[in-house]
Amino acid sequence: MAEKIKIGISSCLLGNHVRFDGGHKLDRFLVDTLGQYVEYVPVCPEVEVGFPVPRETLRLEGSPNAPRLVTTRTKEDHTERMATWARKRVKELEGENLCGFIFKSNSPSSGMERVKVYNDKGMAEKRGTGLFARVFMDHFPLVPVEDEGRLHDPKLRENFIEAIFTLRRWRETISEGRRLGNLVAFHTKHKLLILAHSPEHYRKMGRLVAGGKSVQASTLFSQYEALLVEALRLKTTARKNTNVLEHVLGYFKKQLTPDEKQEMLEIIQQYRSGHVPLVVPVTLINHYVRKYGEPYLSRQAYLSPHPIELQLRNHV
Ligand code: SF4
Repeated sequence: MAEKIKIGISSCLLGNHVRFDGGHKLDRFLVDTLGQYVEYVPVCPEVEVGFPVPRETLRLEGSPNAPRLVTTRTKEDHTERMATWARKRVKELEGENLCGFIFKSNSPSSGMERVKVYNDKGMAEKRGTGLFARVFMDHFPLVPVEDEGRLHDPKLRENFIEAIFTLRRWRETISEGRRLGNLVAFHTKHKLLILAHSPEHYRKMGRLVAGGKSVQASTLFSQYEALLVEALRLKTTARKNTNVLEHVLGYFKKQLTPDEKQEMLEIIQQYRSGHVPLVVPVTLINHYVRKYGEPYLSRQAYLSPHPIELQLRNHV
């Protein structure tokens, strides 16, 4: 890819000293590993809105659906100030063409979910969203988001990173022109990947593309994008991946020797039972794709959706 994928990120996760106490929350995986493939666009709502470092801590108070952002000790209410700034900031971010955003968990400004909201008795419920995160997610409903805490879960990590790489390929397709031929090429390449996330979306998107000639291109592309993002939000599972792997095996019916077929079936079964990670059957399939030159499979994003160095399919 010519340019790196642009991802928004809470600035403290990059190791910037922007926290209330002058510290940071450097996340090594995000900086050292994922950072090799993406370009981060850092955002620190509290510093960018004008608070100093160090500063008094803030917290959410009131209703979890519409909380107020107040300083913990002096009880100054900064809700309007933050909301006004956030609306301006997301407008600026439109120009960045972000393929995702990674938020700092538990922050009253940046947390995307389960942030503490205090009621008038001082009791907290983990049901809030940070003020900037709320404005961002409302403004960019089709941009994948996660927080660094959830990204420690290997399945959520795999899902999020697969989504950002796929969205990047989709944006490249759009940049080549909203033509039916480009959509068909993208869809063909991503069929198995979509199937691994959602057989229902696989069918819906297939019908949409098949009837594409009778739909205006801008409508067709936006309907397809909405379905794509919806599908990518649904996590792959061992059962769904097994379905895809068995589907793939169908393409080799004539080429594989009985012994190769048996080995493949055994490895798929080992994956299904949780004894080997997904990278094992996929590596074997890639070997056969190369050996037998299967053209449809060789183009499938599912077989290589993100750099292998990220080791996203190495968990069981
Ligand atoms: S959590 Fe958000 S507001 Fe707090 S320091 Fe990090 S980027 Fe800034």
